[in-house]
Amino acid sequence: MNLILLGPPGVGKGTQAKLLIDRFGIPQISTGDILRAAVKELTPMGIKAKGFMDSGALVPDEVVIGIVEERLAQPDCQKGFILDGFPRTVPQADALSQVLTGIGKKIDHVVSLSVDKDELLKRLTGRRACSKCGAGYHVDFAPSKVAGICDACGGELFQREDDKEETILNRLAVYEAQTSPLISYYQGAGLLRSVNGLGSVEGIQAEIVAILQGAQ
Ligand code: AMP
Repeated sequence: MNLILLGPPGVGKGTQAKLLIDRFGIPQISTGDILRAAVKELTPMGIKAKGFMDSGALVPDEVVIGIVEERLAQPDCQKGFILDGFPRTVPQADALSQVLTGIGKKIDHVVSLSVDKDELLKRLTGRRACSKCGAGYHVDFAPSKVAGICDACGGELFQREDDKEETILNRLAVYEAQTSPLISYYQGAGLLRSVNGLGSVEGIQAEIVAILQGAQ
């Protein structure tokens, strides 16, 4: 099963993708995670991407298309994959379709998650991650037992540079301008299913699974 999770930053794509990995045994391909790892490792790609990411802008299409093309060729994508955070522009969607055609594959489902802007802001500004093990927290919705310290490993929690309010507003504007046209793009292709991203993680997961299993 080849799946795209579409939606603005903070809507819950990453959380839902992680649950789908376990359920369907297929990998999540998060261009944001891949880029953040490259930034941390100071690779040439990471150095190039950092400025775009810190300001909330998109990394150039050719960079992310290259990342995804390489990742899709890995053996663990044979049974399927979950794209999270890609495509984010119409040229990326066109390139994806070309790459997939070239390897005899296609997208089976596009699930679009949505919640309103105030909720997105609340979710993103409260997000924290462990600097040691990467575990995710939220100051209101999923706080650590001791403020600022990871429950799992005792590491220090930090806020992503691009989760600061000013950058978030920019990321949301970028989403509206460059990514939201993909909703009608995939609607036109007959692939889009919309899911309300407001609710319990489990409830939303059940709705997505029902769509993927063709029960809705
Ligand atoms: P994310 O974690 O998906 O919100 O991505 C974090 C940042 O990485 C974004 O704000 C962009 O700067 C960059 N990024 C991730 N995926 C893409 C993409 N498909 N196209 C362009 N930039 C991306």
